[in-house]
Amino acid sequence: MPQLGFGVWQVPDDEATAAVTTALEAGYRSIDTAAIYANERGTGRAVADSGIAREELFVTTKLWNSEQGHDSTLRAFDASLDKLGLDYVDLYLIHWPVPAKDAYVDTYRAFEKILADGRAKAIGVSNFLPEHLERLIGETSVVPAVNQIELHPQLSQAASREAHARYGIATEAWSPLGQGKGLLDVPAIVAIGRKHGRTPAQVVLRWHLQLGNVVIPKSVTPSRIRENIDVFGFELDAEDLAAIAALDESRRLGPNPAEFN
Ligand code: NAD
Repeated sequence: MPQLGFGVWQVPDDEATAAVTTALEAGYRSIDTAAIYANERGTGRAVADSGIAREELFVTTKLWNSEQGHDSTLRAFDASLDKLGLDYVDLYLIHWPVPAKDAYVDTYRAFEKILADGRAKAIGVSNFLPEHLERLIGETSVVPAVNQIELHPQLSQAASREAHARYGIATEAWSPLGQGKGLLDVPAIVAIGRKHGRTPAQVVLRWHLQLGNVVIPKSVTPSRIRENIDVFGFELDAEDLAAIAALDESRRLGPNPAEFN
C-alpha cells in the first residue's frame, strides 16, 4: 500500500473524475473512497481513463454503517465494485464499528469471504477503538490490515497507534491535515515550514510519514494536489518532531466512534 494516497470525501461524483485524474497525473497511485461518499462511479471513471495498469493502482472503498450484517455486506460490496467498474479492490474497510448495532463481527466474516474470493486483496477497518479491535481479532481469523482513524498533530492517537503496532495493523490517518481548519495556521507548523522552505501542509504530511502513518490528504485544487505529494525531498529533525508533538490536544474534529451510528 502506498504510504501517501488521495482522499475524495466531499468531492461530488461529477467532480471526482477530474480530481482523481489530476492526482493520478501528479503521481498518486492510491485512492480512498467509500460507498457513503457517493463518488465511486466518478472515481472509477478516472481510474479506467487513466491508462495506468490496474496492478499499479491501490483502490480503497468502505462499507457504510446501514449495510452492516453478513448478507447485506456481500450485496453492498457487489454494488461498490460495480460502481467502481473494477474486478477487485485493494482494500475494503468497515467504515465505523457502530457498537450499538453489534454487527461488526458478522460484517467482518463477510469481509473474510470477499478476501478469500480474491475480490478484495486486503480487508480492514476504520474508526475502530482498541476495544473493538481486540474483540474482532478474538472472534475472527484475519487480523485487519489497516485501521483508518482520525489522526493529525492535534489528535495524535498514541493509544491506537500502540495497539496497532502490537497487532501488526497499519495506521492510516484520515483528515491528516485537520481538514485544513486552523491546523495549517498554527505558528509552530508555519515556522517549521519556513525553516525547510515548505508549506504547512507539507510539514504536516511529512510528520505523518516520519511517524509511519499512511496518509490520504484531500484537495480538489490541482496546485494543492501536487503540493501534497511533494513531501519526499526533505526531513523533519528531532526538534521539529518535538514541537509538533507538543500540539496534541486529543481533540476530535469528527464523531466519537464509541457513539457514532
Ligand atoms: P484533510 O485533512 O485531507 O483536509 C482536506 C482539506 O484541507 C481540503 O478540503 C482543503 O480545504 C485543505 N487543504 C488540502 N490541501 C491543502 C494544502 N496543500 N494547503 C492548504 N489547505 C489544504 O481532510 P479530509 O478530506 O477530511 O480527510 C482526507 C481523507 O480521509 C478524506 O478525503 C477521506 O478519503 C478520508 N476520511 C475518512 C473518514 C473515515 O471515517 N474513515 C473520515 C473523514 C475522511
